[in-house]
Amino acid sequence: MNNENTSIREFDFNLICEYFSGLERQGPGSPEVTLKALEFIDPLTADSCIADLGCGTGGQTMVLARHTPAQLTGLDLFPAFIDLFNQNAAKLHLSERVKGVVGSMEHLPFEKESLDLIWSEGAIYNIGFERGINEWRDYLKSGTYIAVTEASWFTNERPREIHDFWMEHYPEIDTIPNKVAQMQNAGYIPVATFILPENCWTDHFYAPQAQAQEAFLKKYAGNTTAINYIAFERYEMSMYQRYKAYYGYVFYIGKKL
Ligand code: SAH
Repeated sequence: MNNENTSIREFDFNLICEYFSGLERQGPGSPEVTLKALEFIDPLTADSCIADLGCGTGGQTMVLARHTPAQLTGLDLFPAFIDLFNQNAAKLHLSERVKGVVGSMEHLPFEKESLDLIWSEGAIYNIGFERGINEWRDYLKSGTYIAVTEASWFTNERPREIHDFWMEHYPEIDTIPNKVAQMQNAGYIPVATFILPENCWTDHFYAPQAQAQEAFLKKYAGNTTAINYIAFERYEMSMYQRYKAYYGYVFYIGKKL
C-alpha cells in the first residue's frame, strides 16, 4: 500500500468513526434483547469476567454491567470508540469494573480459560462467525457461555438481489440451523437462538442514523467519501426494508463443554 492510499484509508476510517461515535449503537440490537440473551446464562458473581468483543461505544456493555455484578472488559479496534466507552462507564459510575481496551478480536489479550462469558453483538462478522466461535472458545472456562449476534437467513430460498448483496458483503451469512450446527461442531451446547425483533434495526439502529446522516452531510458538504458512505448506509437500510422477511440478526447462545 502506498502512502497516498494509507492516508485515504485513514481519512475514511476517521470519518466512519466520527459518524458512528455520535450514536448509542453501532449495530442492530436493544437493551431488551441483551437482557433476554442474558436470561439464558447461569448467574454471574463479582469474580466473573466478561469480555465484550467489538464493543463499540458500549451500548450493550453498560446494560450487561447494570444487570450483573461481574468484571467487564470491552474490546474494540477503534480507539475513538474505546475513549467514548470509558467515558460512558465513568458517567454511569461503573469504571471500577467496566474497562474498555483497544485491541483486536483476532488476538485476544486474555489468558486462556480465564473468561466466564464472551459477548459480541453485531461484530463477530469482522473475523467470521465460525472462526470467531472456534478461536474464542479457548479463552472460556469450561461450562461457561458465549453469546453473539450474527446475520442469518430465515429461509432456504431468497430473491437474487438480496442474495447477491450479502454474497458481496458477508458471504458467511447462513441459515439458523447451519449456524447452530457450526456452534455444536465448535464444542458448545447450543443453548438458545432467537431472532432479534425488527425494532432492533428500525428504532435502535436506522432511525438514529437517519438523523445523524443529515448533520454529517451538512458538515461534509461536497466531500465525496462522506457522500458515498452515506449513500451506502442508505442503500443498506433500503435493502433491509425490502427484504427483512429473508434475513436479520440472530442471537446464538452456547455453553462450552
Ligand atoms: N457491539 C456494538 C458495535 C457493533 S459494530 C454494538 O452492537 O453497538 C462492530 C464493531 O466491531 C465496531 O465497533 C468495530 O470497531 C469493531 N471491530 C471491527 N473489527 C474489529 C477487530 N478486528 N477487533 C475488535 N473490534 C473490531
